[in-house]
Amino acid sequence: MGYKIAIDGPAGAGKSTIAKVIAKKLGFIYVDTGAMYRAMALFIMNEGIDPKDAEAINNKCKEADITIRYENGEQIVCLNGENVNSLIRTQQVGNMASLTSPNKEVRKKLVELQQKLAADADVVMDGRDIGTCVLPDAEVKVFLTAGSRVRAERRYKELTAKGETCDIDIIEKEIIERDHQDMTREISPLKAADDATFVDSSYMTIEEVADTIIGMVSCNKEG
Ligand code: C5P
Repeated sequence: MGYKIAIDGPAGAGKSTIAKVIAKKLGFIYVDTGAMYRAMALFIMNEGIDPKDAEAINNKCKEADITIRYENGEQIVCLNGENVNSLIRTQQVGNMASLTSPNKEVRKKLVELQQKLAADADVVMDGRDIGTCVLPDAEVKVFLTAGSRVRAERRYKELTAKGETCDIDIIEKEIIERDHQDMTREISPLKAADDATFVDSSYMTIEEVADTIIGMVSCNKEG
């Protein structure tokens, strides 16, 4: 059994940035579960399925072959054999992922894949339900948050750096909507595990947040 760090939290709280730093410092594998839900959303979009049609999504998602491999420490998500990393990082796919992720069969399939990846490895895994559902036995559980404006600013910088044109007010509105959808869904809603530690990253640097979590790992290993 490997060592497990679970990081959950709302969109744009810095989960993936922090998880990557921790994975590098500790020599763990980073598992980005949001990328899997994004790849599934892309599949559903490409199939032309209405995101409100739960029955069609639950049936069709079985045809999506989503696999993960690592190249130089980077997680590559393949959808039916094609590397889709460069296609899934848009605001549109993120919003679509929030609409398709509440479906039972989608979650069943992806949670199985996530648990398989964590079975024998030391992992830092981020998402919405890692501490509550995917890795309930994780040694360290963190609920990472930040104010919605701060999160919107981070997303804005990320998107404009990639050359996308966007409006910060719309991003903030979409982030709030996405969190609401993720928190109020029936299956595996976004919420902190009872034994998770809250970390508010609004006014912390990446290094400070990463060191805080690494400090929890050290305490846990000593104690
Ligand atoms: O983290 P990211 O923004 O890439 O996640 C996209 C969407 O995927 C989330 O808004 C959420 O609906 C879904 N998701 C999920 N469970 C996870 C990770 C992501 O439902 N463990």
